[in-house]
Amino acid sequence: MLLPNKPLSDEHRFFLESIREFYQTEIVPHHEEWEQQGMISREAWTKAGELGFLCLTVPEEYGGAGVDFSFSQIMIEEQHRQGCSGPGFYLHSDIVAPYLVHQGSDYLKYHFLPKMATGECITAIGMTEPGAGSDLQAIRTTAIRDGDEYIINGSKTFITNGYMCDAVLLAVKTDPNNENRSAGTSLIMVEADREGFTKNYPFKKIGMKAQDTCEMFFDDVRVPVKNLLGEEGKGFLYMMQELPRERLLVAINAIAVAEEALKRTIQYVQERQAFGKQVAQFQNTRFKIAEMTAEVQMGRLLVDRCCELLSNDQLDAETAAMAKFATTDIQCKVVDECLQLHGGYGYMWEFWIAKAYADSRVQKIYAGTNEIMKEIVAKKVIKENQVVY
Ligand SMILES: Cc1cc2nc3c(=O)[nH]c(=O)nc-3n(C[C@H](O)[C@H](O)[C@H](O)COP(=O)(O)OP(=O)(O)OC[C@H]3O[C@@H](n4cnc5c(N)ncnc54)[C@H](O)[C@@H]3O)c2cc1C
Repeated sequence: MLLPNKPLSDEHRFFLESIREFYQTEIVPHHEEWEQQGMISREAWTKAGELGFLCLTVPEEYGGAGVDFSFSQIMIEEQHRQGCSGPGFYLHSDIVAPYLVHQGSDYLKYHFLPKMATGECITAIGMTEPGAGSDLQAIRTTAIRDGDEYIINGSKTFITNGYMCDAVLLAVKTDPNNENRSAGTSLIMVEADREGFTKNYPFKKIGMKAQDTCEMFFDDVRVPVKNLLGEEGKGFLYMMQELPRERLLVAINAIAVAEEALKRTIQYVQERQAFGKQVAQFQNTRFKIAEMTAEVQMGRLLVDRCCELLSNDQLDAETAAMAKFATTDIQCKVVDECLQLHGGYGYMWEFWIAKAYADSRVQKIYAGTNEIMKEIVAKKVIKENQVVY
């Protein structure tokens, strides 16, 4: 890169080396087999837990590593540089765990977080339903209070870690008749072994083939009221508070993949010959590489700035939305152009770039589609006439 990335401290460098070794020895050799079976192994989760790589930012009191977000950033980037889209570690450690840390009761924190940190309890988050994705307020899964329990009915779809999960943080309507659609929404931790909770086998997807994305069904599932996160009716508010972080995680993944694609392609075009010269010597190749370098660096600066903002509790919904759509657009464009520069080899599954192409596409869809991200940004800058410079 022309602009050097942020220098790493010794502590960060040591962490990066350990995490790299973990992915190279425990994940990469099994990934292809996991792609065939549609999920990773439970041992991969417990190994990550044993080595202290799960729930990095969770306070030590609850079993986490108690380190700051920069370590999560390093872990996510390394996972995607190694081409491992299977493990849903960051959804578990950096999306579900923060909900519990920020809003969970002592019971929920002490009951779930230590087991999540060891990998003994794999978690998922269930918001999307067959009839409600972008329009989250339209969810229809209900949790109706009955004494000290809620009775849950409904279904969720496209849930990451869904098939393997031992517990899901579920978005439900506790007050389905409330005319204020967001006011009736709550979040409840539901253990997978509760009667009436069933899952379908993982979906077959274009990419992220080792990721166990699935549908789940709730048929009169009884859950104690102590599993409610925070206050009843505040679920939508909690989601709005946590979604900027989720969107930044997607942006971190996006830029790591775009950087890696570019790095590998620069090497490939210097090795590959056509018409008696290196592919790197054609003007088209040189211009594409120069353009992609500029785009990737713009994305990198944006992501690193957003990570700083998140660490200072200053990342707002609009900035996170901007980072999510801008970087995932860069990712998809860069990966597509890099694949083109690989010619036919780029289309072969054993090539890193082919998998990156298949894995990248969903980045513009989940965690809120890029169209919804643009609506969030436009609403802010148009209504408030707020320009960013
Ligand atoms: C691999 C994968 C993993 C996922 N993991 C999870 C998970 O762990 N947990 C979870 O809860 N969900 C998960 N999702 C679901 C994901 O968040 C939703 O698919 C996404 O939010 C879009 O919802 P939808 O699929 O219902 O699309 P829809 O909402 O039906 O959208 C269809 C199209 O309409 C557009 N659109 C909708 N509303 C507007 C609007 N107001 N303005 C402009 N365009 C609009 C959308 O941008 C999109 O192009 C996952 C999805 C995938 C594919």
